[in-house]
Amino acid sequence: MNVDQSEISKFSALAHQWWCEDGEFKTLHQVNPLRVQFVEECADGLAGKNILDVGCGGGILAESMARKNAKVTGIDLAEASLKVARLHLLESELEVDYQCIAVEDMAEKSPFSFDVVTCMEMLEHVPDPVSVIQACAALAKEDSWVFFSTLNRNIKSYLLSIVAAEHVFKMIPKGTHRYDKFIKPSELIDAAGKFGLTPVKIKGIHYNPLTQKFSMGGNADVNYIVAFKKQA
Ligand code: SAH
Repeated sequence: MNVDQSEISKFSALAHQWWCEDGEFKTLHQVNPLRVQFVEECADGLAGKNILDVGCGGGILAESMARKNAKVTGIDLAEASLKVARLHLLESELEVDYQCIAVEDMAEKSPFSFDVVTCMEMLEHVPDPVSVIQACAALAKEDSWVFFSTLNRNIKSYLLSIVAAEHVFKMIPKGTHRYDKFIKPSELIDAAGKFGLTPVKIKGIHYNPLTQKFSMGGNADVNYIVAFKKQA
């Protein structure tokens, strides 16, 4: 199976923190409104859409799309995170179908099923990201949307996302990321193209340490998100 158990253990150990907005996953909470808006704008609204969130963790993104009246399924291989995600639904009073299943298995079971597939900050944690890209493409309906966000691979992204974010500013837990797992936009776009995904929009995700705020746009040197359309 396309999974690194040490990654799953790392996220499982922090699972109780998923909904702590000031905790270990603070940066995901901060970035979330920006990426939801990006997905919503590209997909021309989320209400009534059938959405799959791959590597959903505790459901930060999945819930906010459900809040927009989308029908959301969230999948991950960390059962501890899915438990937290399901518990949180009691608090948010939203509906999300959380399943512990590999994206490749889901693609075999339900190809051409989703209007939107999101896969955020997950590709850099799997042994074979191309296999995840292929599965996400297979799960999307024709003419639908697939979104990936991940970290670019260059000296600037190493300095900002590992040295600064993990060690200097301690914005994310030490050891969250490995430089050699980072993916250049050209590599993501090349791989996606092989499975019928055409890039439509790419945006950088930037952190300003002075204002301590995230913004989207500009260069894709560090963290970035790409919206793909699946060819009919
Ligand atoms: N997508 C969420 C969480 C990102 S953290 C968000 O952006 O808010 C990365 C997530 O990927 C974790 O929840 C981790 O458990 C999950 N993950 C890592 N390897 C995986 C795999 N092989 N299959 C499914 N999920 C995986």
